[in-house]
Amino acid sequence: MQRLQAFKYELRPDGQQERQMRRFAGSCRFVYNKGLALQKERYAQGEKKLGYAGLCKLLTEWRNNAESAWLADAPVHPLQQALKDLERAYSNFFAKRADFPRFKKKGQRDSFRYPDPKQIKLDQGNSRIFLPKLGWLRYRNSREVLGALKNVTVSLNAGKWFVSIQTEREVEQPVPQATTAVGIDMGVTRFATLSDGTFYAPLNSFKRHETALRKAQQAMSRKTKFSNNWKKAKARVQRIHSRIGNARRDFLHKTSTAISQNHAMVSIEDLQVRNMSRSAAGTTEQPGRNVRAKSGLNKSILDQGWFEFRRQLDYKLAWQGGWLVAVPPQNTSRSCPCCGHVSADNRQTQARFECVGCGYENNADVVGALNILARGHRVAACGEDVSRARPARATYAASVKQEPTEATHCDSMSQ
Ligand SMILES: [Zn+2]
Repeated sequence: MQRLQAFKYELRPDGQQERQMRRFAGSCRFVYNKGLALQKERYAQGEKKLGYAGLCKLLTEWRNNAESAWLADAPVHPLQQALKDLERAYSNFFAKRADFPRFKKKGQRDSFRYPDPKQIKLDQGNSRIFLPKLGWLRYRNSREVLGALKNVTVSLNAGKWFVSIQTEREVEQPVPQATTAVGIDMGVTRFATLSDGTFYAPLNSFKRHETALRKAQQAMSRKTKFSNNWKKAKARVQRIHSRIGNARRDFLHKTSTAISQNHAMVSIEDLQVRNMSRSAAGTTEQPGRNVRAKSGLNKSILDQGWFEFRRQLDYKLAWQGGWLVAVPPQNTSRSCPCCGHVSADNRQTQARFECVGCGYENNADVVGALNILARGHRVAACGEDVSRARPARATYAASVKQEPTEATHCDSMSQ
């Protein structure tokens, strides 16, 4: 089994390297934005979108042009990768996986990527890495890099520089240690409820830090822009942001690791987080309902990182030899796992489930998880190929298409 893995370390650049990295990230942003502006212009004039090769040709022109000759100071591969990212942003947009590409701003995900392993040297013994036009960079060596180096991304977060080393290696097809199957119901009051009754509290890291963040932002807005005090205030805002991110990542990793180690098959609702997190306000023709409540829910969903959680579950299960099944979410909270009766009356309160057909009682989230597990078993038994696919984004279309199959070939209790 081919295993792709990224190893991330904090860099310890000297002043010169730090200035260079800022410059390179800026050049990549410039190229990305210039490419995007150009594509928009072509579209407005009714011309066809330029492909990656066409954009790369233009990049050469820009690097030779006196007006933007400073681009030639940056390594060429990362600049091309910026154009590749733009290509991907466009295809994600056309495939309805993402919104229309936006211009990049300074200070938001400053990064650049070296795609060619031949130009990179990794010296783990001395905790240093060689990157084109930057030379040898020291990094905080916290663990060994395994596998063959594929590419390297350098990024800036809250004033610190990081290097992420992507590798590939052949590992033995793992045999799952666990044998159990479990369903997961994702929620706002409980982050995740398992069909065996265990549950994980909500993270709400953002809420906890929200006040601190707001105060820091207000303090920053009172300072004169670009003054020393403004810079200090800005650094504080960034620190709170990164603390929130760290706490969230830590929580998600711990939770997804625990679940993937304890179970061989995990069934999860195929929620489209992106649609749910879309503007709840709707359009002028179709104004959204419950706008305030929905945007509250949306904020919680994003805050808790459901997407990231599913992504982690997917690859961690694969590493353990297990698998993730994404199932259609309809009626999972309203069907009785005992007699199959479907009714909104089954769920009198948010927390309590009581079947009006047979009287079965349980916690509503556990009932949801049980239904998701049952559906996962059916999906697996029917041979529907939604298992190893990416959760959410990629599989959604598949499971929607396959839902009728499920209903006709299986004795579906959700109907
Ligand atoms: Zn019942």
